[in-house]
Amino acid sequence: MKTHKALIDQYSVIWKKEAHRCSRCGKCRSFCPVFIETRDEKMGTRGRISLASALASNQVDFSKEFVRSISTCLRCLRCSKECPSQVDFDKLIRGVRGLLGHRVLSYRVARSCISALLLNRFLLDAAVRAGSLGQKLLPGGKSPWIKKLPFFFRGSAVSPRFSRRSALARFAGAYPVKQPKHRVLFYVGCVINYLYPDIARAVIDVLNHFGVEVVIAKDELCCGIPAISSGDVKTAEKLARHTVAVASTCEVDYIVCACSTCANTFKKDYREMLGAEAEPFAEKVMDISLFLRKVLRADVARLCVSATYHDPCHMRFGLGITKEPRELVAQASAFIEMKNADKCCGMAGSFGILNYDLSKRIFARKAQAVRESKAQIVATGCPSCIMQLRGQLADSGISVEVVHVIELVARSIERQNARKKEKSHGKEHVGTKA
Ligand code: SF4
Ligand code: SF4
Repeated sequence: MKTHKALIDQYSVIWKKEAHRCSRCGKCRSFCPVFIETRDEKMGTRGRISLASALASNQVDFSKEFVRSISTCLRCLRCSKECPSQVDFDKLIRGVRGLLGHRVLSYRVARSCISALLLNRFLLDAAVRAGSLGQKLLPGGKSPWIKKLPFFFRGSAVSPRFSRRSALARFAGAYPVKQPKHRVLFYVGCVINYLYPDIARAVIDVLNHFGVEVVIAKDELCCGIPAISSGDVKTAEKLARHTVAVASTCEVDYIVCACSTCANTFKKDYREMLGAEAEPFAEKVMDISLFLRKVLRADVARLCVSATYHDPCHMRFGLGITKEPRELVAQASAFIEMKNADKCCGMAGSFGILNYDLSKRIFARKAQAVRESKAQIVATGCPSCIMQLRGQLADSGISVEVVHVIELVARSIERQNARKKEKSHGKEHVGTKA
């Protein structure tokens, strides 16, 4: 077993270069969502870099404060994108967390459990079924003890419910069309799979409508983001290899995602982890909005609703996509650009579950912006953001519908089809009279 020093030496190689790049200008204090809320240097990008450097030179240890600082980064990628000295902070935080996984017991235990679940669909399905049962057995309402339960079991009317049947159980298979323009693999992702299978249905319907054959692989596993975020490189690499192998058996032109985090993981993290081995796979990956606009040049009809758009961090700062989802929302509705659309919603996967109160504080600005926009619908491109927006907006007493962009597009197509039907019935009717 490696000594403490050997482990620090091994991991700090990853982050030392990044830490050295930091000029300590403090610009990140103006955009790190956690720092903005806490005003605590240790809870911002620069403070975390200082702590990592201090750890590498044995000036600090794994104190409670250190662990809190490192584990409360949202991995929103904003600092990596906007730092004037181009510090790849994401690389640094993953390296430090990798070390935590060796040295901090709670981290090690959590990592082993997550790894076992992510690598085994049967186990994960069983855990979700148990969770779903727990949700059913708990009474609803907002009594104080229920509010203290972990996120999914809070009993609040706004907590997301696990779906009775997962999207993979319902939709895995092929959805052919006549003379397809393209054949794509739709990678469902865990949040859509267990919480929002309706989004998967919308993806299939919309792609089929635009002449695209869809395949959903039944042996899909998690993209690996929980493992990557916790610095568990081994598990992340296993999942990456599995996903690449599954996709290679499908013979498709594109791999389409409706979760910007999955897409960003495939394009950035897989390339970093697997190098050339991931290249043909990563090259084919596309976010669904980008695919609709860039490849299919899809246009959709306007519905009688107003809508605004929230930028998921991994879509904006990871994939660099801002225009295409807005174009679709603007076509399908009376579009209102809200203030702070680019600000993190505070969900970031398990962050919103483990740091519920901080996450709620980060969300407060978003709630204000949605309220001021007066839009009837908030559309976005990430199912985790949907979870946060639905829960927190309802908790803030803001009555607005939250949908995935693809659901709005599906609704527009449905309306268009209904109109066509009405028209043709009208003609038939006139024809009969004549
Ligand atoms: S991380 Fe970048 S923005 Fe933040 S202090 Fe360092 S150089 Fe400045
Ligand atoms: S990734 Fe986001 S939360 Fe983490 S330090 Fe950077 S700006 Fe802050």
